[in-house]
Amino acid sequence: MTGSKPLIFRFAPSPNGRLHLGHARSALVNAARARVSGGTLLLRMEDIDRDRCRQEFETAIFEDLSWLGITWATPVLRQSEHFARYRMMLQDLAARQLLYPCFCSRQDVTHAVAYLRDWPSDPDSVRHYPGTCREMSARQRSERLAQGVAYSWRLDSARAIGAVGRALHFMELGPHGEAHRVEAQPQLWGDVILGRKDVPASYHLAVVADDAWQGVTDVVRGEDLKAATHLHRLLQALFDLPTPTYFHHVNLVDALGRKLAKSHGAKSLSDWRADGFSAADIRALALGPDPDKITGIITHKMASFP
Ligand code: GLU
Repeated sequence: MTGSKPLIFRFAPSPNGRLHLGHARSALVNAARARVSGGTLLLRMEDIDRDRCRQEFETAIFEDLSWLGITWATPVLRQSEHFARYRMMLQDLAARQLLYPCFCSRQDVTHAVAYLRDWPSDPDSVRHYPGTCREMSARQRSERLAQGVAYSWRLDSARAIGAVGRALHFMELGPHGEAHRVEAQPQLWGDVILGRKDVPASYHLAVVADDAWQGVTDVVRGEDLKAATHLHRLLQALFDLPTPTYFHHVNLVDALGRKLAKSHGAKSLSDWRADGFSAADIRALALGPDPDKITGIITHKMASFP
């Protein structure tokens, strides 16, 4: 992992709730990999969702990470402070006719795909957008725009893949540190939303924009986001951005085998703390009995984490 150029990692939580053990695992794996490589760990608040993100959750993230013994380089990037930059990226793609406004509600999309047989689903099991607004006539589109109907911006994925016009690859590190060259399959995602109706960004756009903006060399995140890398690679090519190396760690799961999540009632780190668990206990719970296996760091035996 050690190279001539210092590696830059990031932990990128959304301040829309309290951190749980799954977040602790991600943060600790990032911190451990940054430490053994002599690299830097950055912190990014993925707070584009203005309804769900709150200052108190951001403050709690700082507290929880500090309690775990994790340090990060400043400044902390807040995505909500960078909407102008994301908007420019959307305008760029729109000018190249790789985006189109989509007036559909979620319900419209559900109804439209309900009658389609053998219609593909994305890696998150969401059926691809059926293309209703992509096929809209220029007149219909300008009428809707003139009426002020709210719209999101969707990627015209077929055109975008065509515009890149070559196979794309990224490096994925395996559990034993081995590097695999993976051919990106962005078509798995269909016409994703890159600009939401409420904000000029989406997770996919902002994450790609900011990994480049922050000079991130190594993206370390849960394996639930592994498939998203295929789309992220396409976006990097469209904007001519560098491609980081990826390492997707195993996720912590609950008793039903589901990824730990707030929506499934995962216990927060502050609740663990209130129940008398120490930071060392949490590090052990988050990384399990064989931390080297989770961090993917097998050549370094560390007395403690991070
Ligand atoms: N904000 C995302 C999350 O909390 C992580 C995004 C990423 O690491 O790419 O799941």
